[in-house]
Amino acid sequence: MASGYATEMHGPDPVVVVCGGGGFIGGHLVRDLLAQGHSVRSVDLKPVENWHQTFSEAENLVLDLRDKESCAAAVRGAAVVYNLAADMGGMGFIESNRALCMLNVLINTHLLLAAKEAGVNRYFFASSACVYAANKQDSPENNGLKESDAYPAQPEDGYGWEKLFGERMCRNFTEDFGLQTYVARYHNVYGPHGAFKGGREKAPAAICRKIVAAKLSGRHEIEIWGDGEQTRSFTDIDDCLKGTQELLKSGVTDPVNIGSAELVSINQLVEIVEEIAGIRVRRVYKPGAPMGVRGRCSDNTKIRQILGWEPSTRLRDGMEKMYAWIHDQMTQRLNRAGTPE
Ligand code: NAD
Repeated sequence: MASGYATEMHGPDPVVVVCGGGGFIGGHLVRDLLAQGHSVRSVDLKPVENWHQTFSEAENLVLDLRDKESCAAAVRGAAVVYNLAADMGGMGFIESNRALCMLNVLINTHLLLAAKEAGVNRYFFASSACVYAANKQDSPENNGLKESDAYPAQPEDGYGWEKLFGERMCRNFTEDFGLQTYVARYHNVYGPHGAFKGGREKAPAAICRKIVAAKLSGRHEIEIWGDGEQTRSFTDIDDCLKGTQELLKSGVTDPVNIGSAELVSINQLVEIVEEIAGIRVRRVYKPGAPMGVRGRCSDNTKIRQILGWEPSTRLRDGMEKMYAWIHDQMTQRLNRAGTPE
């Protein structure tokens, strides 16, 4: 019998479903749940060979969760459903694919309905710091966004609106139908086994890739989007996994930040990666490139109150793990194909 919330069930081990299990956070969550002894079903739209991580001990299903019938098949017999499935990426992707991001509403709607109909005990929705109102993020000196700062609503166009709407649906399903829903607002999660090229990658992975490429080529120059003075906090994947799973045991169904409170500018993030790589690079700033808001950081008062814990992995330590993984991926490709990217 597995440890944690699933042991509260009676009879055979209930299934824990990870929607978006072929993605970055989903792949790590599947690994973690299997290690705890859970029976895991991992569901994703992509062919299995394109998943970031796969585990033969899990039931791996390829389904399009925009379809209602696929959602019913995904959650059959499930006690817990994690909804991490979304068509998304970093700023470069979400700023130029707003309609696609809005279409994630189909996944959230059909999964919630299927979970309600299947009698699922706990339903998790991965929301985002992109729900926060733009006027609270117009300075690089951001003191931290409290959960209440999402209202009055002025979220990121497209992706942020869809996440905010998804949060409200969860709340209404809890209030009206009694489905226990849990919502985390993730702040820039990073780590190994995620996208680092191709257009969906986020700043930490993109910076690692550029600096690895600079190191391997000897051409010590990288492009930076904007002036590099925009600030963010970045959350280590292990903190994200811990916060997510603990949240589901808390009974708190209001949205909660899962994010680091270590605020850095993109220029400071570049310095951290330069230190890890042991090189200095010339920075070529690209003023018109997608930058998002000017400053964004997580306020962790609420998560500390609920869990007595907050994400605390030092950015330098987490980035070291991700840099090492991206370096490996790129050197392996260089040896195989003669080019690192
Ligand atoms: P990801 O892109 O690596 O994973 C999402 C997965 O969902 C992908 O594997 C994708 O193939 C799958 N998917 C997309 N459409 C689908 C569909 N119709 N049916 C089934 N699967 C589908 O992203 P991630 O970084 O792992 O993010 C996971 C969740 O967390 C997403 O909901 C994302 O919006 C949210 N989030 C992530 C971050 C972050 O920094 N990574 C920050 C805030 C919120």
